[in-house]
Amino acid sequence: MIQFHGNMEPAFRQDCCTGIKKSKGNLKKSQGKRNESDRKKQLTDFKGDLHNEKEFEQHFRTGKEKVMKILVSACLLGVCCRYNGKGELNPAIKELLGKHQLIPVCPEILGGLSTPRMPAERQGVRVMTRDGRDVTAAYEKGAEETLKLAELFGCRHAILKERSPSCGNGVIYDGTFQGKRIPGDGKTTELLKKHGIQVAGESDFMTREAFL
Ligand code: SF4
Repeated sequence: MIQFHGNMEPAFRQDCCTGIKKSKGNLKKSQGKRNESDRKKQLTDFKGDLHNEKEFEQHFRTGKEKVMKILVSACLLGVCCRYNGKGELNPAIKELLGKHQLIPVCPEILGGLSTPRMPAERQGVRVMTRDGRDVTAAYEKGAEETLKLAELFGCRHAILKERSPSCGNGVIYDGTFQGKRIPGDGKTTELLKKHGIQVAGESDFMTREAFL
């Protein structure tokens, strides 16, 4: 977790950032023990982001803040790419730009669809527009292109727009265009998850600090 930097005691922070050079000579023994236990706890917290203890140590030896590469639904960053020609700026997600590298994607645009466009919903494996056109191929193409970008940039996390037939995570509309929700993922989310990318929706992200 990136946030724990703020909780680190100054002496510990200094110790880490100088390559854990056995303290600066003014760390008391008891404080050293406490710092070690803090370090272990923080290592546990950090497991989701860093691969192993070696990487954790390397991170602090260099004193560099870890920058994560996160795939983000472009509409959550205010890009007007939604079916209705609007964006859906989420200020908290935009703020991540100060710490991390965000890679904006719009799978539906990547799949060759225009903006604005007819709303669509999943109906099982198919994606259908409100006026009855089968647009599954475009949604699948968008998912594949998004995966390509995720792999190109080495993203292991994504924050995607909830309930979209492309980006929805865990809950989507049921295909009747009546606002009814059912469990399920959008086409892109489904593909990203199959390839081991951890996906959160925007409200998941607001409540699950552990994600970052
Ligand atoms: S496909 Fe995803 S990124 Fe594009 S507008 Fe829909 S929810 Fe936003």
